[in-house]
This record gives sequence, structure tokens and C-alpha cells, in this order.
Amino acid sequence: RAKDLGRNSYQLYTAAMNARSFERLTMESSLRHALTREEFRLVYQVKVDSEDGRMSGVEALVRWHHPEMGLVSPVDFIPLAEAMGVISDIGEWVLRTACRQCKHWMDLGLPPVRIAVNVSAQQFVETDVPEVVARALRETGLPPQYLELELTETVLMQRVDEVVAVLKSLRAMGVRISIDDFGTGYSSLSYLKRMPIDALKVDRSFVNDIFDGQSKVTEDGAEIVSTIINLAHNLKLKAIAEGVETPEQAEFLRSKGCDEVQGYLISRPVSGEDLISLFDRNLLPQGKVD
Ligand code: C2E
Ligand code: MG
Ligand code: MG
Ligand code: MG
Repeated sequence: RAKDLGRNSYQLYTAAMNARSFERLTMESSLRHALTREEFRLVYQVKVDSEDGRMSGVEALVRWHHPEMGLVSPVDFIPLAEAMGVISDIGEWVLRTACRQCKHWMDLGLPPVRIAVNVSAQQFVETDVPEVVARALRETGLPPQYLELELTETVLMQRVDEVVAVLKSLRAMGVRISIDDFGTGYSSLSYLKRMPIDALKVDRSFVNDIFDGQSKVTEDGAEIVSTIINLAHNLKLKAIAEGVETPEQAEFLRSKGCDEVQGYLISRPVSGEDLISLFDRNLLPQGKVD
């Protein structure tokens, strides 16, 4: 549908927009072949326990290495993949690759760690997620309790009864569910209460607003983050913060009871091999262990 719209309004485009839509068309045709040409890679970013700074989980993030365009951000190609109807194929590859990597770390004798995989809202509606997840687990031999799915609030706003049923069957398998970028969507609190989920991830924009440019706590920013952490705990969910870049932010989050933190302060996303050196130690630079 989106594609037809683009084609019909094509003549109306200005020269500048023509250049952009040309780029988009180029990207579209190459995205169609990216999977078979093996142009996707996964990188991994740790999540740590905010008390002891130790790895509590890992998030898989997809990267597209285009032969001419270079590295294309998921922010740019995921929405395109959704519009083109290829997100589910990419999503299944991501899921299988992430599970295989996690099982590989285990087989190396590293302490078992949970792997989180992002599932797009479009992928969630167009595929039988429990079936795809079961297949990935079966093919890779990863025990279900080591898999976590990160969903956005958009998913929760779809047909509630169906979503609840899908989430229930995933959790019955032992898979964990967290809500990504929490606070940026429009999910209602009454829906949230009905959702069988395990954790809320405070969006990085809120983490960024805790302090002003002079490292002073901002009243509103700090209040919003504390409120989300308390909301999670009142609903018996874990609270996790993404986009943590400074020791002050990490300390603030710890003091408010945020269970886990993730961000450039602790580690950038790295290759599966480079992640090995991050196991088994305190990754918080100013981490307090009392
Ligand atoms: P997300 O799931 O909320 O992932 C967090 C994004 O923030 C990642 O960007 C990560 O690299 C970045 N990030 C992590 N720590 C910091 C920090 O301290 N500061 C800043 N400024 N950024 C930080 P990335 O990898 O470009 O991914 C962007 C988004 O693309 C993800 O947001 C997720 O929504 C989507 N995405 C990534 N991989 C996948 C995937 O395999 N499947 C699907 N459906 N979506 C994906
Ligand atoms: Mg995520
Ligand atoms: Mg996130
Ligand atoms: Mg985010």
C-alpha cells in the first residue's frame, strides 16, 4: 500500500525529493536481497545489574553492511523493511542468529546470560511469534529461559485479547517479555496492567533529561524517570534504563532502585567475540559494590 502511494505521487516530487526517493528505491531493491547476500550482522550490548555492575543480559542489535552505501542504521531500514513486507524474514534471521550466539557463549563455558531480541510491531502482527520463537529455540538448542523479547508500546495497543494470548503462550514457554522505549508510546495504564510482561525499559530520551548541561538534576526529568521506575515496581515488573552515558545517571538510577542499566557508559554494542571479555566483572566505571 505504502509503495503504491509512493509511485502515484512520484510526479509531484521536487528535484530534491526525487534524489531522496531514488535513494529509497535503491535501498528497497538492495534490502530485498540483503538476507540472501548475507549483509546483516548482529552486535551485542550488555545490560548490567545497577548494584554490582555485572552483566545481567545482552541485547542483540542488527546492522546492515551495504556493499556501496556502507553501514545503514536500523533506524533507517527497519521501517522500510516493515513497509516492504520483509521485516518478518529479517526478524526471524535475527532471532535465530541471536539464539545461536547466546548458546555459543554458553558452550564456551561462560556464565549463562539472557539474550534480548527486538521484535517490531509489524513482525508481531504478521507472524505467529510463538511458533517462530519455538523454531529458533529448537534449531539452536537455547533453553527458553535465556531468551527475552523487547516489544514496543505500539504492540500493546493492538487487539488486546490477542496480544495477551500471544504473550501468555510465550511466557508459558519460559520466554521473558520487556517493553522497549517505555514512555514514548501511548499505551494506557489499564492495558499495561493486563499485559503478561516482565520489565519496562525507560526510554533513553528520559534518561538523557535527568541532568541538565551542568550535571544538575532537573526537577521534571528526574521525576519522570523515578515515576516510571516506581510504576514498574508497583506492577511487579523490573525497571531497566537504556542510553546511560554518565556515572551521574547510573548513580541516580541506582539510588531510585532501577534494577538494570544499559548504555555507552558501560559498553557500546560490540561483536559476539568482543563481548566475551565483558563477562564476570563489574562493568560500571564508578560502580559501588557495598
Ligand atoms: P532500541 O532497541 O531502543 O536500542 C537502543 C539503541 O540505542 C541502539 O541503537 C543502541 O545502539 C543505542 N544506544 C545504546 N546505548 C546508547 C547510549 O548510551 N547513548 C545513545 N545515544 N545511544 C545508545 P541502534 O542499534 O541503532 O538501534 C536503533 C533501534 O533500531 C533500536 O532501538 C530498535 O528499535 C531497532 N532495532 C535494532 N535492532 C533491531 C532488530 O534486530 N529488530 C528490530 N525489529 N528492530 C531493531
Ligand atoms: Mg531494544
Ligand atoms: Mg530501547
Ligand atoms: Mg530506544
